[in-house]
Amino acid sequence: MISIERIRKDFPILGREVYGKPLVYLDNAATTQKPQCVIDAISEAYCNENANVHRGIHFLSQQATDMMEAAREKVRQFIGAGSTEEIIFTRGTTESMNLLASSFAAAFLKEGDEIIISGMEHHSNIVPWQIQAQRYGFKIRIIPVTDLGELDMDAFRALLNPKTKLVSITHVSNVLGTVNPVSGIIGLAHSHGIPVAVDGAQSVPHIKVNVQELGADFYAFSGHKIYGPTGIGVLYGRKELMEKMPPYQGGGEMIKRVTFEKTTYNELPYRFEAGTPDYVGSIALGTALDYVQEIGMEQIAAYEKELCAYALSLLGEIPGMRFIGNAPERSAVISFLVGNIHPSDMGTLLDRLGIAVRTGHHCAEPLMDRMGIPGTVRASFSFYNTKAEIDALKAGIERVRAMF
Ligand code: PMP
Repeated sequence: MISIERIRKDFPILGREVYGKPLVYLDNAATTQKPQCVIDAISEAYCNENANVHRGIHFLSQQATDMMEAAREKVRQFIGAGSTEEIIFTRGTTESMNLLASSFAAAFLKEGDEIIISGMEHHSNIVPWQIQAQRYGFKIRIIPVTDLGELDMDAFRALLNPKTKLVSITHVSNVLGTVNPVSGIIGLAHSHGIPVAVDGAQSVPHIKVNVQELGADFYAFSGHKIYGPTGIGVLYGRKELMEKMPPYQGGGEMIKRVTFEKTTYNELPYRFEAGTPDYVGSIALGTALDYVQEIGMEQIAAYEKELCAYALSLLGEIPGMRFIGNAPERSAVISFLVGNIHPSDMGTLLDRLGIAVRTGHHCAEPLMDRMGIPGTVRASFSFYNTKAEIDALKAGIERVRAMF
């Protein structure tokens, strides 16, 4: 059982006030707050271990390199990858998806090919593919979203055909909270010999993920959404595929030998990590992963599920409440509209009460179009949130409602 009171003390920011009111932070899908151990890990690395990695023979450089590589091993274990060669450090999910789209397309996609994404993707799993589609002339096919906010699996089956070269899908929707049946999707795609990439930005912080058990060929996530620092993220890629993909960026670190006539590239994972990496970010991400594992991913998932069910039942009592996304399999995200109140009015007024929620299209404009709405109000939870905070959200929404 999670001791919320103890956990909350690990996060200095949760003790602060905004507009003279206690902060109720319900924007965890955008970014999570940082425990003191992560903040300390960053400070400690700059105070004691800072030197450029992978280059120097001197003590500090070796130490920083060892610490970064130890963090890579922590990531490998955390997501159940087979080898650290398959763990690429990036700036976040967005860069992971851009790297993947750019290198995968260069290696495997041409005119006449198709890839499949879904109607509930974040822009970072749409636009990188559109950029490459313009370059290489392949087609992007879309799995439709049902009224409940689930993927239409019959339509998905019908989209698979011999031209399909990749399926790229979000594990959890950042708008609807829907947990997609990625295991089934991967099984189906693999039965046609098609690899699958998974956007794990909203899953890795909330549910136990094992990329090998899932069978994912690629898996992306962001450090800052799992209590780590901003500017660090991960792309897991199966070695067999990654070895066939050309580098994403050129520069230091990603080469074996450079001449003006011919350059040869470094081995995995360094081939995809050009330039000085955010080694301090990697180290602190490792600390964040240690932290959540100490609490336990199963415990986190169970507590957040309970919190989400509580919120759905409580907020459901509010007259005019309309949830956007009603899938039975869901994670800690609730999107809603209340009567005719514009989401940004709701968000602004809740903010004055100290309640931080997200409003707008949540970088998923095609999904907003599908649902026929301009945006939503989104409350997203972490294991450090409490039922009392959900009570405060309900009271806040009712207060705003009374004003309209
Ligand atoms: N995919 C999903 C599902 C997300 O929720 C987000 C962040 N909102 C991203 C991708 C992009 O993540 P980042 O901004 O950390 O690169």
